[in-house]
Amino acid sequence: MRLADTHCHLYCEPLGSKAADALSRARDAGLEFIVVPADYRDSWPFVESLAGDGFLLPALGLHPWGAAPVDIHDLRARLEGCGAVAVGEIGLDRVVEAPAFEDQLRCFEPQLDLALEMDLPVLLHCRKAFDDLEAVIRRRGSSVRGFLHAFSKSPDIALRFASLGLVVAFGGAVTRPRARKARASAAALPLESIALETDAPSIGMLDIRPEDVEPWHVMLAAEAIAGIRGVTAEEIGEATTANARRVLRLE
Ligand SMILES: [Zn+2]
Repeated sequence: MRLADTHCHLYCEPLGSKAADALSRARDAGLEFIVVPADYRDSWPFVESLAGDGFLLPALGLHPWGAAPVDIHDLRARLEGCGAVAVGEIGLDRVVEAPAFEDQLRCFEPQLDLALEMDLPVLLHCRKAFDDLEAVIRRRGSSVRGFLHAFSKSPDIALRFASLGLVVAFGGAVTRPRARKARASAAALPLESIALETDAPSIGMLDIRPEDVEPWHVMLAAEAIAGIRGVTAEEIGEATTANARRVLRLE
């Protein structure tokens, strides 16, 4: 079965300490690659150390929770230096009170513009700021590509972002029967607009605590979406892996 994890914070504990074992389980499960996004500045050296790995694909950017002025020339050099496949994790978050939303925008927009300039996809974090995020993307036309990560919201939001050309990435939420909105979105989206991720080790799956989630668990998300859509898990694995490769320009 083809699988890929488009979002895993491999350096975060407790996953970081068992990364070697988790990666061998991921390879055994048939994962083709794992995208490892940065979050705060202190994660950048780890992500940059993945340069040339081929299985672990680096993505560099500053998360809205750590929003601060970004030296775009420095970020560009670092993205080029490690062969980053995406700019991320970046985005907007109206749930947190700090950093201030205006500061998040000042951090996010230059990174989004850098991704466009470098023709890289983005890994987008968004909580309660979907209208803001949509407006920021629409102002840039239709050329933004990337993943709307850890999606758990309703089909109207999912379809709006899919129509902008973004792929919607599902992980833990779709595995939980009570996550009705996420599951309705996984049913409503065109198959070419869906990807899989774990966001390990931060989001639990059905019967698995967040701290125990690791990349091979994307298989559970594939099985959940397959059940929702009435197709085989292999079909979901095949399509979502192909979608991720298309967005990341991996051949
Ligand atoms: Zn993340």
